[in-house]
Amino acid sequence: MIKTLRASYLNSVAQIYDYVIFRRTQFWTEKQLERYQLNCLKQVVNNAYKNTSYYKNIFLKNNIKPSDIQTLKDICKIPFLTREDVKNNLDMMVSEKFNKKRLVPFTTSGTSALPLKLYHSGYNRMVNLASYIYKCNFVGFKFLSPKIVIGGVSIPSNLVQKGQYWVRKENRLSMSSSFLNNETASSYIKEINNYKPVFMHVYPSAIFLLSKYMKKNNIKLTFKLKAILSESEILYDEQKALIKEVFQCPVYNSYSQRENVVIAVPCNKSDFLHVLPQRSICELIKPNGEYVTKEGEEGEIVGTSFDCPAMPLVRYKTGDIAVFTKEKCNCGRNYMLLKSIKGRIYDYIIDKLNRPILTTPIIFGGQNPDASMIKKMQFYQELPGKIIIKVEKEAKCRKHDNEIVNEIISVYRSKFNNRCDIEVVICSDIPLTASGKNQYFVQKLNVSQYV
Ligand SMILES: [Zn+2]
Repeated sequence: MIKTLRASYLNSVAQIYDYVIFRRTQFWTEKQLERYQLNCLKQVVNNAYKNTSYYKNIFLKNNIKPSDIQTLKDICKIPFLTREDVKNNLDMMVSEKFNKKRLVPFTTSGTSALPLKLYHSGYNRMVNLASYIYKCNFVGFKFLSPKIVIGGVSIPSNLVQKGQYWVRKENRLSMSSSFLNNETASSYIKEINNYKPVFMHVYPSAIFLLSKYMKKNNIKLTFKLKAILSESEILYDEQKALIKEVFQCPVYNSYSQRENVVIAVPCNKSDFLHVLPQRSICELIKPNGEYVTKEGEEGEIVGTSFDCPAMPLVRYKTGDIAVFTKEKCNCGRNYMLLKSIKGRIYDYIIDKLNRPILTTPIIFGGQNPDASMIKKMQFYQELPGKIIIKVEKEAKCRKHDNEIVNEIISVYRSKFNNRCDIEVVICSDIPLTASGKNQYFVQKLNVSQYV
């Protein structure tokens, strides 16, 4: 009962926040938004300086004072915050105004080489929910409409034993991506058809697997789905096209990280991602630290959150790469737009000459090995110039292991153009990450040394 009350209280506060902060300001002019952001930035900097020993030291060391921040451009005076900085100074970064025991610790997911522990407060949770409500409204559906979530959901073991990989609660059916495979896919689809959600909120790798299965077996939805909202992993163009074709509805991509330093939401008027100016300042940075300014140029997303008073994150380097654009969206909002999210810095493979190769075209582009023999595949690197491809074989595949290994080597040898040696290992199981994500690529090298 108390839990339900708390949840409904959180819902109500988040809905008010959505109206007061997001919807009230969403059509503001650039000047108005700038003024709003500058005000927030000053508060963040003051809080960081006054209440954390980490930022006090950084400011003193770099001879800056909070009062030096007079325009948004002055943010450049503050050094970047790397994941290594957070890892090495965790306790010094927590605000003295908060009792650490009452904060919520969380670890960022393991797609990067360096898992990180950070802290959030209840306020952050509420603002995240408000952003989610706003995002749903942004693309034209209601947050409280019946929905299906496919992602890192934990399912009680008694249900798993019965072959049920989902739980129903209020207006949502939460399905675990961890148990989704070609053997269980038909039961997932049956349940989706049975529940008839208005929209779905999914990990792209999970819905992509379902789409492949549905296309192969010519299975269709028995109702009209309004939209699919993809989050938490990168949605590749090839994946998006197939999901759209199979589910016959718009597929929206959104971007955020658990650190919540930059939130970018989709829009039904264009394919651009809209960075929420009410939540943070987003910068796109080249490897040399300069701003990306040219159309179509790529840069690392650096974020300064307005909503992390318990553990301020100022100019935090996310390791994620986005494509810059100066174009405007027809929706009329003056938000910063991102053309697309390209992947993570850690998504680079390092070749024999220590040069980075972007992983996406290697994994998804060009000709790929025969999909009917592969259930799951994972690229793994711990030495420059050497890639281990782990392969989980399809149960029905009658090919001999040696034959599969040779086929895969010949496909990727030409893709890598001899820049990496390839070893293929047939595994009985490639586990998902702790949060149920499919990890296509595990990079153990410290890639920032090479890019
Ligand atoms: Zn728009």
